Amino acid sequence: MNFDLIITNGTVIDGTGRPRFRADRGIRDGRIAAIATGEHLTGGQTLDGTGLIVAPGFIDVHSHSDWILPLPDHDQVLTPLLLQGITTLVTGNCGFSPAPVTEDSMPLLDGFSEMMRERAFPYHWRSLAEFLDTLERDGLLLNAAFLVGHGTLRYAVMGERADGPTPPTPEEVDALRRLVRQSLQEGAFGLSAGLAYAPGVFAHNEELLALLRTVAEEGSIFTVHGRAYTWVSPFYTPMILGTPHNVRSTRELLALAREAHVRLQLSHLIFVGRRTWRTHRTVLRDVEQAAAGGVDVAFDAFPYTVGNSTVNVVFPDWFLDGFAEKINDPRVLRRLKREIDLLRWTLGLNFRDIILLWGRAGELAELEGLDFAAIARRLGMPEFEAYMHVARMSEGKARVGLGTYSGDGEREEPLRAALAHPLCAFMTDTILTRRGRHNPASFGTFPRVLGRYSRDLGLFPLEEAVRRMTSFPAERIGLADVGRIAEGGWADLVLFDPATVADNTTPGRPDAPPTGIRAVLISGQVVAQDGQTVGRERRGRVLRR
Ligand SMILES: [Zn+2]
Repeated sequence: MNFDLIITNGTVIDGTGRPRFRADRGIRDGRIAAIATGEHLTGGQTLDGTGLIVAPGFIDVHSHSDWILPLPDHDQVLTPLLLQGITTLVTGNCGFSPAPVTEDSMPLLDGFSEMMRERAFPYHWRSLAEFLDTLERDGLLLNAAFLVGHGTLRYAVMGERADGPTPPTPEEVDALRRLVRQSLQEGAFGLSAGLAYAPGVFAHNEELLALLRTVAEEGSIFTVHGRAYTWVSPFYTPMILGTPHNVRSTRELLALAREAHVRLQLSHLIFVGRRTWRTHRTVLRDVEQAAAGGVDVAFDAFPYTVGNSTVNVVFPDWFLDGFAEKINDPRVLRRLKREIDLLRWTLGLNFRDIILLWGRAGELAELEGLDFAAIARRLGMPEFEAYMHVARMSEGKARVGLGTYSGDGEREEPLRAALAHPLCAFMTDTILTRRGRHNPASFGTFPRVLGRYSRDLGLFPLEEAVRRMTSFPAERIGLADVGRIAEGGWADLVLFDPATVADNTTPGRPDAPPTGIRAVLISGQVVAQDGQTVGRERRGRVLRR
């Protein structure tokens, strides 16, 4: 038998969670043609896997790189993802996808996505099918699967009214449902929503339920950035009494999924603010109870206590509705300051926990990498004013690194509880561009889970770590022929050294490359080796449902 490539020796962790085993793997036509446990394969070029683990390529189940993929030089921007072993991205998260678009919704999408993209790109497509065809024609660095974003659909159907509290008319709800169905039938794997950002923040549960029923009819998944990841938030009243808001938010989503009979993925399950941390047991227990009661639910998390977000993330919806005028109205700002002060105090979140990653306005560039306490000192103004200055100058588009995500430098019990949970898939949630400061998740997410959380801290065996990076997210999303090492499946593979695999990022060096990722293969071809990309050919595939 002849192979294009044989990976000799090496230990297979096949992605299913079963114990590792020794085998040779023969690859032909981009797929795994043979797995030989007793004998050695011959008849082809070889890649020596001695001392290494051979695993399925990692799946980043929550990516925002769909805003980079349409760029002709996206491979240069996204290389760090490949170098940490990621071979497949699930994109279109938090309510936003670059398709479908209309003539009128383009500027709205452009405005929202500015934080996530590196530069504007022409929309050579309208439907999701046309978008996927465009990417396929131009070639991809890595595989990409797409979700269709609820915010994107709202802009397409409601135009500017999407960014306001008036609900869609019954005709508009019908139009939203038709677009959901069309996009799913054209290859999207599910619907995503971002209920804390405009325009998702304005959507009522009735609207969501109507769309979720369509998603369920198509057998697809609903992934959702919830209304609240904090125990108090501007999104529920009363603000302080009663059930913690992140618990309420999770319960609402579980109830929606139960009612619509839809598969649910709770996106980036985080506990933001020191006083929110104590709610993690309740949230995890609620998820477990819902799962035991028949709701098809799981979640995802990244292994850091800082995440990227927008400067707008701390603003209530009443302020976001008419942001451009309100941010210059002193009376409004006084009310906002009172609310944000109260919020910060009740959350246990300080301005020094927030770092400016990208300021958008040229004059803010020198502040990038600083936290907002330092920015306030630099600007000679109080912290709140400094924060509003950045929000105003960036027109609400600045990218920030928000800390106290399920832990901080001292404690991270909620983070470990989430990561250790069998229903947790791993992901980056990163916004990777060449502008501003980096999020360490772009460089070290998967090596960090394998090295720090599996090997060093022993939260779970390596087989389980690999399962939740590969077959588990593939099954959740519905990706066929990826996520496990099996004959006939795509030869998307990672060879890593279990003794040395590690994330090397630090707050001062958030872009340090990882250790121990020795080779990455996509469609049977080595695309990265020992920290360098190999060749210029794009091997990534557009995945369609
Ligand atoms: Zn999100």
